Amino acid sequence: MSDNKTLQAVKGMNDILPDEAQLWLWFEDTVREWLEGYGYRNIRMPLVEPTALFKRAIGEVTDIVEKEMYSFEDSLNGDQLTLRPEGTASCVRAVLQHNLLYNAPQRLWYAGQMFRHERPQKGRYRQFHQVGVEALGFAGPDIDAEQIVMCVRLWKKLGIRDVALQINTLGDAASRQRHREKLIAYFEQHKEVLDADAQRRLYSNPLRILDTKNPAMQALVSAAPKLMDELEAEAIVHFEAVQAILTQHDIAFEINPRLVRGLDYYNRTVFEWVTTRLGAQGTICAGGRFDGLIEQIGGKPAPACGFAMGVERLLALLQEDGMQNPPAPLDVYVVHQGEQAQEMAWRVAENLRDGGLRVLLHCGGGSFKSQMKKADGSSAVCAVIIGDDEVAANVVMLKPLRGGEQQRVGLEELQRKICELIK
Ligand code: ATP
Ligand code: MG
Repeated sequence: MSDNKTLQAVKGMNDILPDEAQLWLWFEDTVREWLEGYGYRNIRMPLVEPTALFKRAIGEVTDIVEKEMYSFEDSLNGDQLTLRPEGTASCVRAVLQHNLLYNAPQRLWYAGQMFRHERPQKGRYRQFHQVGVEALGFAGPDIDAEQIVMCVRLWKKLGIRDVALQINTLGDAASRQRHREKLIAYFEQHKEVLDADAQRRLYSNPLRILDTKNPAMQALVSAAPKLMDELEAEAIVHFEAVQAILTQHDIAFEINPRLVRGLDYYNRTVFEWVTTRLGAQGTICAGGRFDGLIEQIGGKPAPACGFAMGVERLLALLQEDGMQNPPAPLDVYVVHQGEQAQEMAWRVAENLRDGGLRVLLHCGGGSFKSQMKKADGSSAVCAVIIGDDEVAANVVMLKPLRGGEQQRVGLEELQRKICELIK
């Protein structure tokens, strides 16, 4: 087939171009440092998993599994596969497969692409990135609270302001069952207000109706029976302990009884960090406890708690605050003309790199003037210029690119002189 139309990326899947990628690299460095500061270790899972994993972990009657997954059949062997829509299920699968929970709880993190077939709009894409943080094998409220305290530190490190913390508790199995029955009875009385999604979920997953984004159902949902009124004593004690730690750390929060989260596996503590500055896509970070998931995926029962951040939304918030893309880091631009000068330029550039400097060696020839233009347009702090005269005298010209006089410099003192300029 011949088609001359320029090929485009898949709708809702974005290229991150070099100018913007600098901000991503800075973000990733910051996140990694932050996580290491809390003893979390990195884990990397495949982008593709058996479809059954997500059906079992996330729940059949959820937005993700019902309509957002990129699922396909492996044409070679007929396996049912899915591009991961989130990381928790894969992370738990990997931990169980490799027996990592055998003797010790695990604090783990991962970062990377997730895929959901949603309607693309600002802050909502079909390929997006999350940083996921999971504490597996921890039962106490201390780990729930620590994860929230961690977030506060990251917001500070990143310079993120104006995000509010909402928390809730989903209780345990018995209270959820009681609540579920009351919800069904309540929604049955108001069937005429339920939209198609809600009608379909009425008996399969009524809790999820509370998570609706349909404005026409907000009043109905606000007046629905509250899980809070059904909670068992242990769940209340746990939730209060989480709140006490947050208060000790002066972390403000709002208890939002309607926070139920979009995935089925949560219980007890759930939380979201929300900003009003990104329109409808205001949740930048969300998570909670999922004590049942490990057993559901086939492991020995073990409690767990985790959260995930939406990287695109976090970076959009930073850009909203006026943060610029940092320039590509470059110290030196090496300009040269003539055959011997080129040989010397290569040697000088490699030596400077040995000394830890970031050096761009001009390639592709051209006049001194045109090469200097490129040097000026780069983010380098200085240019090293080498022509026949310099080769003859075994020196180079060092020219600061942000003001200052150029000077002849011997090779043995070049590294030091450049470092002085960079300081
Ligand atoms: P939403 O209610 O916005 O659909 P969600 O509850 O489906 O979010 P989670 O599964 O909890 O989202 O994912 C954690 C975070 O990942 C979200 O808070 C958000 O920041 C980000 N995120 C989720 N879906 C997308 C998407 N399609 N595009 C960009 N970021 C996303
Ligand atoms: Mg969603």
